[in-house]
Amino acid sequence: MNTDRNDAPAVTNFIRNIIDEDNRNDKWSQRVETRFPPEPNGYLHIGHAKSICVNFGIARDYGGVCHLRFDDTNPEKESVEYVDSIIDAVKWLGFDWNKDGTEHLYFASDYYDKLYEFAELLIERGQAYVDSQSAEEMRLTRGSAQEPGKNSPFRDRTPQENLDLFRRMKAGEFKEGEHVLRAKIDMASPNFNMRDPVVYRIRFAHHYRTGDTWCIYPMYDYTHCVSDALENITHSLCTLEFEDHRPLYDWFLNQLADDGKFTRPLPQQIEFSRLNLTYAITSKRKLLQLVTENHVDGWDDPRMPTIVGVRRRGFTPESIRLMCDRVAVTKVDSWIDMSVLEGALRDDLDEKAPRAIAVLDPLKLIIDNYPEGTSETCSAPVHPHHPERGTREFPFSRELWIEREDFQEVPKKGYFRLFPGNKVRLKYGFVVECTGADKDEHGNITAVHCTYFPDSRSGTEGANGYKVKGTIHWVSAEGAYEAEVRIYDRLFKEPQPGAGGAEFLDALNPDSKRIVRAYLEPGARQANAEDRYQFERHGYFVADRIDSKPGMPVFNRIVSLRDSWTKPA
Ligand code: ATP
Ligand code: MG
Repeated sequence: MNTDRNDAPAVTNFIRNIIDEDNRNDKWSQRVETRFPPEPNGYLHIGHAKSICVNFGIARDYGGVCHLRFDDTNPEKESVEYVDSIIDAVKWLGFDWNKDGTEHLYFASDYYDKLYEFAELLIERGQAYVDSQSAEEMRLTRGSAQEPGKNSPFRDRTPQENLDLFRRMKAGEFKEGEHVLRAKIDMASPNFNMRDPVVYRIRFAHHYRTGDTWCIYPMYDYTHCVSDALENITHSLCTLEFEDHRPLYDWFLNQLADDGKFTRPLPQQIEFSRLNLTYAITSKRKLLQLVTENHVDGWDDPRMPTIVGVRRRGFTPESIRLMCDRVAVTKVDSWIDMSVLEGALRDDLDEKAPRAIAVLDPLKLIIDNYPEGTSETCSAPVHPHHPERGTREFPFSRELWIEREDFQEVPKKGYFRLFPGNKVRLKYGFVVECTGADKDEHGNITAVHCTYFPDSRSGTEGANGYKVKGTIHWVSAEGAYEAEVRIYDRLFKEPQPGAGGAEFLDALNPDSKRIVRAYLEPGARQANAEDRYQFERHGYFVADRIDSKPGMPVFNRIVSLRDSWTKPA
């Protein structure tokens, strides 16, 4: 388990209050067992991160354990690729599912035998029946909010008849859709989930784990609560869309407990609100669409709000946990601004990230009075607030790269950087005075000229004699590392893509990816994949974990130093 000084202390919330109360009453003998139950039908996204942090975080703080359970009951959509990516994502976020040497990694598909056995029991007890209506007939007899549903003409089949049909469903004697198993609850319930929900359906589909063993598959609502009870889960934490399913969750478990299959207390389902992040989407379907329609470069595109995407972008697991801690766990649906995630990253990396200099939009600066063919070494702290982390060194020579925006031929009012006649300090180097610029035949500036003051070097006594209003950064042309740098920005330009029935694709930000050739201080060449830096004045950057090669890192901008999106109030 990663513990990091940037992890905020756990803030209490209504779920923790329930657990505290349970512990006071000794409901679970002080045991806390939660689970994170993804369906392996897609990549995890930043919304799932909240659920992961809530479930694993609570288990950690109460000395319990959180199970990782794959909720794999839809054979057509699930795969090992997704299982592997989910395992990776949870581990990367800093959580694990081990306790006292036991690995709590589970698959609902491992419970198929038990689920089947319990279904037969429900049938024997007259609590489930085989319905032979078509899907269309079932839809039509379901009723509406105002009207109760109608009982199926097959509702009163005897347990023997149901058992026989159910066994033949399992044996593959019927076609898909010919029969389903339904719980016999109440077609007049105001809660639709209680109107004789389907428990099993026929699917002649190959399952990535059970192969062709089964041609009937249990439904989510039945599988989920039984899995929780089989694993002795105490608190089953899920998002609000399951609130209306809770009576069904309790109904199944109570029937099976009455029959001695489970002991009480039974796991308690508790719902909290989903995480919605502005300028992002957290719908698996829409994420899939972005990938399949090539709006992005795959699931791990650094602009994607998937866990693999934010990892590749350079977000740290600590920053994601920090954001999740900062977002309250409540029952109120709300949108969290992207700036909260970006702020968490800045807060995490400001302390950790070594500094480096990068010139992203290079313009040549020529120091005409600096001797040709020579150079000297300048140094700068690895971290301005931590002298103990040492210094980095880089050459200073006659030709340097500076940012194009650091020169104006005709300065705007209040511009203190380079313009003819003005002096600036080259950070960690010398004071120079601008003498002019070269232009090509179209009038574009191709190089800036200046003279330097040999006694003005930073860190020497002479430096104090120079008072300048502007300081700019630079990289010596000789020795500079010319690198590919990808300037990423938010994937969407609207805070709520697709809000109000609009097409979410229309909100894509056309400027979300820009690739530049930049000049970096020589030491940046040594960056390993996933090393993070603050490029002074520019923001936080990471060496791309896929495209970087030894001695040739490619950098991604994680986030700029300041938030340019949030409008001042
Ligand atoms: P679907 O069920 O439509 O395939 P899902 O996003 O709910 O998609 P699951 O694999 O079922 O995906 O999710 C696993 C867990 O993550 C569930 O407990 C779910 O409640 C939780 N979860 C999913 N999206 C969010 C979100 N945006 N915020 C918080 N928790 C989420
Ligand atoms: Mg779900």
